[in-house]
Amino acid sequence: MSYSEDRSVWFAGQGLWQHVPVTEWADWSWQLKNRLTKLEDLERYMVLTPEERAGVLLAGSKLAMSITPYFFNLIDRQNPNCPIRLQMIPRAGEGQLHVEEMLDSLGEDEHSPVPGLVHRYPDRVLFLVTDRCASYCRYCTRSRLVSNAQDYNFHPEYEQGLRYIESHPEIRDVLLSGGDPLLLSDRKLDHLLGRLRAIKHVEFIRIGSRIPVFLPQRITPELCEVFKKHGPVWMSIHVNHPREATAELKDACERLSFAGVPLGNQSVLLKGVNDDDEIMKALVHRLLRMRVRPYYLYQMDLITGGSHFKVDVRKGMEIIQALRGHTTGYSVPQYVIDAPGGGGKVPINPDYVEKITDDEVVFKNYEGRTFRYPLTATPVQASGEAEQRPAKLHVELHG
Ligand SMILES: *Cc1c(COP(=O)(O)O)cnc(C)c1O
Ligand code: SF4
Repeated sequence: MSYSEDRSVWFAGQGLWQHVPVTEWADWSWQLKNRLTKLEDLERYMVLTPEERAGVLLAGSKLAMSITPYFFNLIDRQNPNCPIRLQMIPRAGEGQLHVEEMLDSLGEDEHSPVPGLVHRYPDRVLFLVTDRCASYCRYCTRSRLVSNAQDYNFHPEYEQGLRYIESHPEIRDVLLSGGDPLLLSDRKLDHLLGRLRAIKHVEFIRIGSRIPVFLPQRITPELCEVFKKHGPVWMSIHVNHPREATAELKDACERLSFAGVPLGNQSVLLKGVNDDDEIMKALVHRLLRMRVRPYYLYQMDLITGGSHFKVDVRKGMEIIQALRGHTTGYSVPQYVIDAPGGGGKVPINPDYVEKITDDEVVFKNYEGRTFRYPLTATPVQASGEAEQRPAKLHVELHG
């Protein structure tokens, strides 16, 4: 059955780790301790393709490999094209560099007034509070610093970042990211959120995290209390494929929601993973059922060794076109390219407008039919001339 037909929410369970007591399985520190990080860890459970084998051996010098047991269970070990497998298991393609690619493709380091803080937009900052994640995505935009495999020596230091935010009253929005902020202890998060809340001009706090997807066990009642205490805290999770939308993720999202955390989702458009209209539709439908509003769909950044994931921008536009109008408006993310070199996120939209003049705008609807909207305001003349009036205001031209 295809993902679009199968509407059931799948419980991942313990899979390969049936022998582990359920209390350990449900403990996030057990999951972290038992991550698969080495070639032999993978080869205990699956046969790698030659490309994967070469990729794993290369990974240590690029972006470390790490997969939580929970997330590893989502991999179809018989299928080299499994969308989870493609995201998690390195391939030899990571070693192929291209001239368009950059270590810091978004020019974040240039917009960084203090280490770990990116101040690109007028009123908000990106605060990188850790360089670690529960698992590593092979297409990670911050692979230069995440996992520290490239000796980037990023040492998150909150004090400088907090002082910068405190002394810049124009900052009203702080986005905690990394790495994954939810790898910090409850105590550290409580402290960090408390410090941010104490800054009068900071009115919006959000966290970008893939932990609910990699490690739903981390979303404990204690953590939810921290969010309640310092709320509203918004969160963007990162789900790319409907297979990731398990019952475990749904429960984690529910716990967050009930703690008052509004949830959004960011996906990266990835070749062989989600560059497909039906897959994307199934994903956004599942997200809505989990109380998650699709927020951004990203064109992949020009990271080094990422070309095997690259999708044509026209495909991204086609996916948006296949959603808009055809399904719930809430489920349609904004497709963006984060401008290489550091121009910020720019919306890329399908072209609905055919023509715009001083008199009218001519545009297509979701079915491809053409409509016009007059920009003029022509007074209706004295009686008897009513026939001058267009029969309908929104005149359909053809279609
Ligand atoms: C993405 C991003 C933000 C947040 O952008 P929104 O469009 O408000 O979600 C802020 N700062 C930086 C540097 C970013 O990359
Ligand atoms: S979770 Fe985010 S920061 Fe971490 S490896 Fe994946 S994309 Fe990069």
